[in-house]
Amino acid sequence: MEFETKCLHAGYEPKNGEPRVVPIVQSTTYKYDSAEEIGQLFDLKASGYFYTRLANPTTNAAEEKIAALEGGVGALCTSSGQAATFFAVLNILEAGDHLVSTTSIYGGTYNLFAHTFKKMGIAVTFVDQWASLEELQQAIQPNTKAVFAETIANPALHVLDIEKFATFAHDNQVPLLVDNTFATPYFCRPIEYGADIVIHSTTKYLDGHAVQTGGVIVDSGQFDWTNGKFPQLSTPDVTYHGLVYTEAFGPAAYLAKARVQLMRDLGATPSPQNSFLLNLGMETLAVRMDRHFENAKKVAEFLQERPEVSTVSYPTLATDPSYELAQKYLPNGLCGVVSFEIAAGKEQAAKFLDALTLVSLQVHVADIRTCALHPATSTHRQLSETELNEVGISAGLVRISCGIENINDILADLQQALEQLEG
Ligand SMILES: *Cc1c(COP(=O)(O)O)cnc(C)c1O
Repeated sequence: MEFETKCLHAGYEPKNGEPRVVPIVQSTTYKYDSAEEIGQLFDLKASGYFYTRLANPTTNAAEEKIAALEGGVGALCTSSGQAATFFAVLNILEAGDHLVSTTSIYGGTYNLFAHTFKKMGIAVTFVDQWASLEELQQAIQPNTKAVFAETIANPALHVLDIEKFATFAHDNQVPLLVDNTFATPYFCRPIEYGADIVIHSTTKYLDGHAVQTGGVIVDSGQFDWTNGKFPQLSTPDVTYHGLVYTEAFGPAAYLAKARVQLMRDLGATPSPQNSFLLNLGMETLAVRMDRHFENAKKVAEFLQERPEVSTVSYPTLATDPSYELAQKYLPNGLCGVVSFEIAAGKEQAAKFLDALTLVSLQVHVADIRTCALHPATSTHRQLSETELNEVGISAGLVRISCGIENINDILADLQQALEQLEG
């Protein structure tokens, strides 16, 4: 199946007389005829649904679809993107371990890594994604267990050199974890360039309609977890009578462990309702992304010509530092998010946002409706000035997430709001 067809048909194949649309299985539990059958499920010797915290048919349909779209061996949906990132790392790191992450990442992920992980005994070193392999290597420690980055960084919009980071990770026998939220598998499939684990906040483009929060972890099935660095996967788990994930689940060991151990113990389960909405959103992913991209490209070009705007970040612009990487990794398009700087600074940036009428002020991106935000006073408010500089956010930076409205209406609103600025 081609990508657009998978968006509609992967993950759910109704049999004769069954519902055409993925049904919402709003049930926490599942009935069995014998204690023996249930025992087999608990011992992971048989597969089947037994409790919705671990698996649910509606959620499973969404998982299978995402795995097919990203080209992985399987996927695990979570209740938010934050939970997905947390699980993805915690599945292979524990107290005393070390993670390497790029600095240009989502503010919530930065907080998780820099502060919460620290309290849990997991250390994180942040690296500049433009650094050479030799420079990156200096961040590696004997206890380094993974490398983390974003395909298109939120909100800096830096495009990752995925192959460079895959080489960096693999030269050190650790996996590359990539947050692919902004690119979506329609525009980039990081596994094809060597990423081992792909993460999404499905709250964003995969859903697209701003109706559910969710996350997902996709396993490429390609990393060798038996290389000695990952005893959590390659030695017995006492909570399953000594089961060894790499032996019991082969290439899907990482994903199986995340589900049967982390989801069992931490329980960030999506609701079946939300999985239904996510699945519905994904059916139109391909057509929505084309329009998001088309509109964002035009908005970036429009802003670049405006005197009130000092810089515009969008990797289709020849002036953008990510232009060449975007040509390589995202040749067919990018996200709808454009970042730009109001030349007159923080107050005028706030005034610009207040003057918008069609474009709404929202703490969100990737909605089908165009929305805008001032990161320094919202999503990145908790970050100190030094931290803000590190993640590349200035006081006048505005992030606009272009929706799928007619471009003329979006541009007219931006123009009238810019015309109200002084200086
Ligand atoms: C929003 C976002 C997250 C966090 O996802 P939630 O669903 O809000 O928890 C993680 N990474 C990126 C790139 C995001 O944009």
